[in-house]
Amino acid sequence: MAISIRTHKMLWGRSGNRCAIPGCKRVLYEDETLTDDAALVGEEAHIVARSQDGPRGDSTLTADERDKYDNLVLLCSIHHKVVDDQPFEYTVDKLHKIKSDHLEWVEKNLSPDDDRQKDDEVYAMYIDKWIELAGINEWKGWTSNVFGGGEPQVFVSRYKKLRDLNEYLLARHWPKRYPNLELAFQNFRLILNEFLNVFIKYSQKIGEDENALYTTEKIYKQLRKWDEKEYDRLYRIFEYQVDLVQDLAIELTKAANYICTQIRKNVLPSFRLAEGVLLIETGPDINFSWTTVRLEYPSNDFDEIRYKGLRHLMEDRSNWNYHFGNGISESYFPINYNED
Ligand SMILES: [Zn+2]
Ligand SMILES: [Zn+2]
Repeated sequence: MAISIRTHKMLWGRSGNRCAIPGCKRVLYEDETLTDDAALVGEEAHIVARSQDGPRGDSTLTADERDKYDNLVLLCSIHHKVVDDQPFEYTVDKLHKIKSDHLEWVEKNLSPDDDRQKDDEVYAMYIDKWIELAGINEWKGWTSNVFGGGEPQVFVSRYKKLRDLNEYLLARHWPKRYPNLELAFQNFRLILNEFLNVFIKYSQKIGEDENALYTTEKIYKQLRKWDEKEYDRLYRIFEYQVDLVQDLAIELTKAANYICTQIRKNVLPSFRLAEGVLLIETGPDINFSWTTVRLEYPSNDFDEIRYKGLRHLMEDRSNWNYHFGNGISESYFPINYNED
């Protein structure tokens, strides 16, 4: 496991973005200028090294514990090299002392915005959970089962995590500091919930244990005796379902990318800059080739929830520059008994 967003946020925020070494205290964050982006010149140094044979690495700490806040100290690149080259001078105890002295120094000299720091750490915790449950780092992989093969599939383990995520996001206490980031999460949750419900409407479980997956039911294959009309009707239902699930996954990808943008704007300017935009892969086409697609909303700041419900999506998707199906199907909505 790598260093989490929350740990990263704690480390930088609490140390005032400065090197902890007495007499250094160098500011490790360079604001953006006209010609350059903002740059991070600080390093998240391990007190006990990440590996057993690294500096101060001989320890009973687990791999996870080594990447936690308590075992990290923010340093400039020069002092990171110094403390790693001189592990007998910079012992575990000495580095812990340097870190706690530095935190006191920050309190005294920088009058940090503690409320904002607290809120940022809360958002960072939610972001870590979102990354894990939504499979953000495996996005192209798990969604390729939805977009590939003409028959949307989701592993049962992933489906459960997505269900958990829906509930997790619904139950959060939001700090209300960054309203557009919070709207981005709400928007994502509404689409996620719709995606999960629509997908499961025609799906069946196949496989066992960690290989178990939900696959879209080929309902037209369930005909007991041959009936061309009925076969065509069922086949159209199946096709409509496949397209709708894929169009919802398109909207979900856009919503996830929009969250990433809002995280960069509000909480962490470097978030997923190296990895880039979440992509999807569709195919195979008649030539057996796959296409990689980039999906984003046309604009990147909304002060309302973008998702306007399933009926609106069914109608609106023909206006998207990339979509699978079109048209409304009433069978996805509860019947209105008041009509007659
Ligand atoms: Zn190091
Ligand atoms: Zn330094």
